Amino acid sequence: MLSRRSFLHHASCALLTSKTALRGEGAPGVIDVPAQVFYDPATLRHEPPSDHPESPKRLDAVMGTVRMLERQGRLSVATPRPATEDDVLLVHTFEYLKSVRAEIAAGRRTLSTGDTELSPGSLTAALAAAGTVVSAVDAVMNGRTRTAFCAVRPPGHHASQSRGMGFCVFNNIAVGARYARRRHGVDRILIADWDVHHGNGTQEVFWSDGAVLFFDIHQHPWYPGTGSPDEKGDGKGRGLIVNNPFPAGSGRKEILGVFREVLVPAADRFKPQLVMISAGFDSRAGDPLGRLTLTDQDFAELTDVVVGIARRHAGGRVVSVLEGGYSLEGLPLAVASHLARLAS
Ligand SMILES: [Zn+2]
Repeated sequence: MLSRRSFLHHASCALLTSKTALRGEGAPGVIDVPAQVFYDPATLRHEPPSDHPESPKRLDAVMGTVRMLERQGRLSVATPRPATEDDVLLVHTFEYLKSVRAEIAAGRRTLSTGDTELSPGSLTAALAAAGTVVSAVDAVMNGRTRTAFCAVRPPGHHASQSRGMGFCVFNNIAVGARYARRRHGVDRILIADWDVHHGNGTQEVFWSDGAVLFFDIHQHPWYPGTGSPDEKGDGKGRGLIVNNPFPAGSGRKEILGVFREVLVPAADRFKPQLVMISAGFDSRAGDPLGRLTLTDQDFAELTDVVVGIARRHAGGRVVSVLEGGYSLEGLPLAVASHLARLAS
């Protein structure tokens, strides 16, 4: 594990070399592949009870599709590193990290802060998930790939600084965003969240941050109940939280509509240097935990909108992070559609 001192040393070295990357140019001599999938099998070690929808089978299904695309030469699969304590502490409080450790070690079956089931391997899996996003950020910022998809679980966007809930332990995408800022000197990051549930944890982390534009669509009323358009951020973050709640039954027209008409102009004003996606596929028609109606083609077009923003402002750099998606048949199809456009 890196000490804080060595972390800061690495961070300052990376900062010196990141100016080229911020102009959208890969480092000379580095292989630039259009898309890489980052996957750590340790994420399977988080094992809620067998009837729980957030199961290791989700990633088995996703990786089946990913391996097929890899065999077709359309993307490559990379092995990430687990998150260090320093990475996690970029977002979470020391007290929360300590309680997660202690509760898992004590054999608790549910996190005391919220509705997240635990198993003996949950800490290993949660550190692997957050580290996967950190590794993907390094690859994209160093020009090894233009876009990255993080096949991770447990999901992250419901976890705030001091509270895991909603199947989430650490906020994977928030850790990646903070890491991009500290290690690679990225000043402006867009996070677009199309999971059916509001990303309350991500919103809370970046509420007054100023470096992150958080754009979220979600079903309302629905879990966790937050995400009103009146929630807009505060201080340096005022106006950088953009919530778009939709009633059950909404789909292509409403959601692609706000991506094109609300997200694009907001992002063109903000000019992100890195674009990240909280890619939850429980907004797909037929998902057991949602009532929105997006299709696989819609996910392709949502991806196009976000990739377009990245190409205009961020040298094409996109880090996409799996959140929800609980239909074992639908999830791999939606991911395939998303990956096809990330790799285009
Ligand atoms: Zn969700």
